[in-house]
Amino acid sequence: MSANCIFCKIVAGKIPSAKVYEDADVLAFMDIGPIVKGHTLVIPKQHFDPITATPEPVLAKLVAVVKKIAQAQMNGLRAEGVNVMQMNGAAAGQVVPHIHFHVIPRFATDGHRWNWAAKQYDDPNEMKQLAATVQAALK
Ligand code: AMP
Ligand code: ZN
Repeated sequence: MSANCIFCKIVAGKIPSAKVYEDADVLAFMDIGPIVKGHTLVIPKQHFDPITATPEPVLAKLVAVVKKIAQAQMNGLRAEGVNVMQMNGAAAGQVVPHIHFHVIPRFATDGHRWNWAAKQYDDPNEMKQLAATVQAALK
């Protein structure tokens, strides 16, 4: 447990939550500020952050539960689609620094729109150069 981590406090039962799923390693509970009602968070019980510092076996368990929740939102809430999101760092919009996946049920009528404003590369080489830079950093 990480001191002052709100999600660690939820895992420890010190802060209440509306639990959806729990096993030895993973907890899923309702987001208190839903983008769409039914919005659920999937977290590891152990404190990790960000994704790059989270062991791959933990990520595999988290994603397996994300899949379960997405299916349950479709079956139980009659969701017509599901968004899965995961933020890392304040620049990416992360507020709670304990890794979590957002699983958001979507309906054609839910009224939510992402501000997904696609931009353009300055020239054809710029995209290739960025690909090469990231690829080199993989090694
Ligand atoms: P992020 O911006 O990815 O860090 O998202 C953090 C999320 O945690 C937000 O969607 C909040 O609404 C949610 N949240 C914060 N506190 C609580 C809480 N006590 N119970 C449930 N969800 C919470
Ligand atoms: Zn934590």
